[in-house]
Amino acid sequence: MISVDEAWTKIQAMASPLPIERRRLEEAAGFVLAEQVRAPMDLPPFDNSAMDGYALRAADTTAARAEEPVKLSIVGEVAAGGWTDSLVEAGTAVKIMTGAALPPGADTVLMLEDGRLRNGCVEIRATVPVGKHIRRQGEDVRQGEVLLEPGLRLNAQRLGLLANSGIAEVKVFRRAVVSLLATGSELTPPGTPLAPGQIYDSNRIVLRTLIGETNCSCEDLGIVADDPSAIAQAVSGGLSADVLLISGGVSVGAHDHVKQVLLELGMETVFWRVAMKPGKPLLCGRLGERWVFGLPGNPISCVVGFLVFIEPLIRRLEGEQDAQPHYTRALLKRGVSKKDARRHFMTAHVAPAPDGRLEATPTEKQGSAMMQALAQANAFVVVPEDRQQIPAGEEVDVLRFRE
Ligand code: AMP
Ligand code: MG
Repeated sequence: MISVDEAWTKIQAMASPLPIERRRLEEAAGFVLAEQVRAPMDLPPFDNSAMDGYALRAADTTAARAEEPVKLSIVGEVAAGGWTDSLVEAGTAVKIMTGAALPPGADTVLMLEDGRLRNGCVEIRATVPVGKHIRRQGEDVRQGEVLLEPGLRLNAQRLGLLANSGIAEVKVFRRAVVSLLATGSELTPPGTPLAPGQIYDSNRIVLRTLIGETNCSCEDLGIVADDPSAIAQAVSGGLSADVLLISGGVSVGAHDHVKQVLLELGMETVFWRVAMKPGKPLLCGRLGERWVFGLPGNPISCVVGFLVFIEPLIRRLEGEQDAQPHYTRALLKRGVSKKDARRHFMTAHVAPAPDGRLEATPTEKQGSAMMQALAQANAFVVVPEDRQQIPAGEEVDVLRFRE
């Protein structure tokens, strides 16, 4: 049996990113960048106006007073997308719209509402300083500067920067495909009457939803009985995925066949059994390049195994270089205790206290099959290996679900 930290260290050491592919920006949201991207051009690409107004020479307005306005004759107009080469000479101005290129000769912009248009002239009642309301070429980004580093996930903000720089295609890591199999002769899908001794399968919907929250694609292989050949057949059907998750049948009972079946299919064991509660019999292995996990069937064991190991592994496979499980700190609202030397994960509800600090309240019921407690929880309080008791008020690690 190895510790949670040792298990994660082994996964990290073996997790290399999936192959790189080129994607059009429209199809790259949520993918992780596989290249450093440098700016192909300045942003903005040319000096332009930040306001609707008048492009003019500041020097023409030094004498402007409310009682003695300066008059500049309007010699043209330039809209966004337009261009003018005609020089703004002394005593003249060009009407300009937001985003339009500044005409040559002009060195400042007067806001539309600050000038009065009369007889083809704009009347100006106060001095306009040089450089007002001008967005300078390159003030945002200089050509050649690094825009984005590899390992960053492409969100709306980053895609916006790439698009504005004229980049239409990027190199990204392929996203993971995860397949999912529930094993257990007792399992019945909801919507079907329950025979004696049967229970409803919940692990598939739970894992499928957690996988969905990572945005990678999930292939559901359904339910199979605790029968080695049925398991072998179902597993063979799921081997096109990057990560295969199998729930149930991975412990030491007479009908726990998953590990043996996987070994016969050529699995190399990375680890089996982790010093954690719930979730001890967790199995991690490789089938060639693919990852396979045997998650203990108890619903909360499944969830903890997913959040502690599989979710951060998926992010690493997809190119996030330093993906880690989602731990934060919170104040324990109620004391907790345990008897063994494993790391415990207790279902808890985390919420901000009035002072803004996070507080974690463990659910009243604790246990690897307490479904109501799971439904009340949005996190797990982590009780470290070397602690038997943690009093209320102490700061603890919490492992959070995505909100
Ligand atoms: P196992 O890991 O197969 O020993 O299963 C441990 C416990 O989890 C047993 O009580 C199973 O009935 C239960 N269990 C296994 N698979 C599921 C599932 N898909 N949904 C809900 N409970 C399950
Ligand atoms: Mg079982």
